[in-house]
Amino acid sequence: MGRLAFGGLSLHETCVFPLEEETDVPRQWIAQRMSQIDSSGIRRVFDLATQLTEPVNLSIGQPDFPVPEPIKQAAIQAIQQDRNGYSVTQGIAPLLEQLQQQVAQEYPEHADRQVFVTSGTSGALLLALMVLVDPGDEVVMADPYFVMYPALVSLAGGKAVLVDTYPDFRLTRERLEAAITPRTKVILFNSPCNPTGHVADLEEVQAVAQVAREHGVALISDEIYRQFCYDGPFVSPARFYEHTLVVDGYSKAYAVTGWRLGFAHGPSCIIQEMLKLQQYSFVCAPHPLQWGILAAGQVDMSPQVAAYRRKRDLIYQGLHDLYPMPKPQGAFYAFAQLPPGVTGQQFVEVAVEEQLLVIPGGIFSERDTHIRISYAAPDETLRRGVEVLRRLHKKLCGGSSGSRSSAHGGLAPQ
Ligand code: PMP
Repeated sequence: MGRLAFGGLSLHETCVFPLEEETDVPRQWIAQRMSQIDSSGIRRVFDLATQLTEPVNLSIGQPDFPVPEPIKQAAIQAIQQDRNGYSVTQGIAPLLEQLQQQVAQEYPEHADRQVFVTSGTSGALLLALMVLVDPGDEVVMADPYFVMYPALVSLAGGKAVLVDTYPDFRLTRERLEAAITPRTKVILFNSPCNPTGHVADLEEVQAVAQVAREHGVALISDEIYRQFCYDGPFVSPARFYEHTLVVDGYSKAYAVTGWRLGFAHGPSCIIQEMLKLQQYSFVCAPHPLQWGILAAGQVDMSPQVAAYRRKRDLIYQGLHDLYPMPKPQGAFYAFAQLPPGVTGQQFVEVAVEEQLLVIPGGIFSERDTHIRISYAAPDETLRRGVEVLRRLHKKLCGGSSGSRSSAHGGLAPQ
């Protein structure tokens, strides 16, 4: 089967998309559930990317810094020491101990909280939704959302209920309450957020936890970007709702997206069911790499986070007068509003002509009025990106760029 793989552009750099081909295989062989999942928007962006030789690539969802040396060395050593077989399903004992200690320190009052190692945060999300969602159940989440969420919910037979959070991207009590129905089973929460860069403050997080508690629904908190908070502390809803299931991972914090290492912690009855399913699916997280990531305890990533804070400033200061956006406070994305009448898809097509890659907002949302800009890139690439984006704005708005009032007077999010 022909396959396209792009190293240069992806929401996950590992995405591989089959080419559409003539085939004799009857369409009805493919299970119904796959028709619920649409990746055509992503595919279109990938197709556009093939035209580029030296793109200014602001589309990448992974850090541009190298894996710290002690982590690399520990993984190499584990392979050489023949730690290449399966590990126990829950993860190697020293990594589990390290995680358990972290969790116990953060939540000393949660006696029932258990932890285990997963195949990436994606693996933890898949297990969590398969364990919690029955056919017909509703899973409430903010729109914009991480691209995987609705797909995984529908795979589990559930229905994604989207809460419009434009233009400030806050999942407020009012917005959340309005989406809760008797079928609500789970609230799926993500802060710092991919794609908006929004970081929920204490008030927002407390409200989410309270709504979950009051309605007796499960709460999944995706905390994969928790190290990347630039303006205030990270706050987890698990602090306020002890039943919160946290999914987290090493991909972003240590630049090991290809290692497929994550973890989950939460009430033991949920964790036990997730473990049962992991046993029959992923089996275990990659074994030698679990030994590698054990060395994460010795490395300080604060210089990398400080560098990303400066990158955030560069992008925000360079663009927010032309592309309205709340100042991103975390992760490594800005979600920028386009001029009125221009869709993300149209914009990306014009941007490609200028060798610029960004992701259309419609991939993460019911609306296609924004673009996601990833600033996980060298400063020089970011400067070139800002230049191109400013030029494109001028092109699209007929020279009225440079003044927010002239380009965006009265502009309301569509
Ligand atoms: N959650 C969010 C919000 C993400 O952005 C990503 C990766 N882009 C994941 C989960 C999955 O991460 P991984 O499987 O690499 O740990």
